[in-house]
Amino acid sequence: MVTALIKRYKEPLKKFYLRYRKPILAVYIPLHRIGRRRKCYVCGKTFGRFTRYKGGSEYFPEWISRLQMVGSDVNNFGCPYCGSFDRERHLFMYFDKLDLWQLVRNGHVLHFAPEVHLSKRIEKEGPAEYVKADLFPANATIRKEDATNISFSDESFDLVLANHILEHIPDYKKALREIWRVLKPGGTAIVQTPFSKVLKNNFEDEGINTPALRAYFYAQHDHVRVYGEERFMSALQEAGFMLEIARHNELFTEQETGYYGVNGVEDLIRIKKPVS
Ligand SMILES: [Zn+2]
Repeated sequence: MVTALIKRYKEPLKKFYLRYRKPILAVYIPLHRIGRRRKCYVCGKTFGRFTRYKGGSEYFPEWISRLQMVGSDVNNFGCPYCGSFDRERHLFMYFDKLDLWQLVRNGHVLHFAPEVHLSKRIEKEGPAEYVKADLFPANATIRKEDATNISFSDESFDLVLANHILEHIPDYKKALREIWRVLKPGGTAIVQTPFSKVLKNNFEDEGINTPALRAYFYAQHDHVRVYGEERFMSALQEAGFMLEIARHNELFTEQETGYYGVNGVEDLIRIKKPVS
């Protein structure tokens, strides 16, 4: 009933929301803090619910739900205290479980689209070099870098973090070649990206060229394709990487998945540049 009403009045509600966003969120977000069923892996606070991304999965086009997308958990998205997103919390869990922090300690790290909490933790671990990079830097601590034309010389880094960025890049194969180039032999990259378990090939079309069309067909206004799982994994191997996928369900229990609000089917896509 409520859902049907919201769907019917979606456009005027959207206008109302955009106009009064700040006061609405000031009331709405703290409501999620009531209860103790969930815990944020990043800030350690317990609360009742995570915030949803754009109303949650039921507001995504049917086309997207039929593609069985593996990506962000849009129903358990933001922490109502620290604002961390599910994909950032999930990386913390993987880093702890697999002790990926040892790649950071005294290592050379290139971090694209750096998540705030993960960045702080990396800095604490004491890397030899830590480069925060983005095509559109949000502040002066982030260096302007194009992932398809990285300004660093060959074999500069032990670890490259590219968490949910490849779905934004038109020439993603070039980005993979660049990541390969700047990694030292034996170096690791983390390249999480949303993909479909249904599609055999990637889906993209030049005609899908407006934010509204991209939001409909690719699930987000600034995505440029939907990857097919097999095609994406093959592209990683074709770029020369060894796949070292860490399976969520082999590392975490169902209870942990729900408690910490992360996507139980999103495995860690860890790739390595071979020591030739
Ligand atoms: Zn938090």
